[in-house]
Amino acid sequence: MPKSSLLSDLQAAPKLLHRDCKFVKVVNAVEDKNEQKALHDAILLIRQDTGSGHGKTYSSVWLTRIMRKNGINISVSAIQRHVNKECSCVEHN
Ligand SMILES: [Zn+2]
Repeated sequence: MPKSSLLSDLQAAPKLLHRDCKFVKVVNAVEDKNEQKALHDAILLIRQDTGSGHGKTYSSVWLTRIMRKNGINISVSAIQRHVNKECSCVEHN
């Protein structure tokens, strides 16, 4: 039994309106908050990377490879949609 069901329900309510995409769901499932922040930062790095093709340092493929290497199952397209803001997220961060 949680301490306050009312409080936790109220705090959880906005999340029902917020449809997290696959990427955000996967990131939220990561226990380490520093790792969560680093993953969101990685998205910003990919967005800021203006290179194309092999000129790109940070890409969805790069992040997918790192996440999979560390046991996080995610697809390139899920990351790409989030990077391009074409995902179901209401807020893009
Ligand atoms: Zn998203």
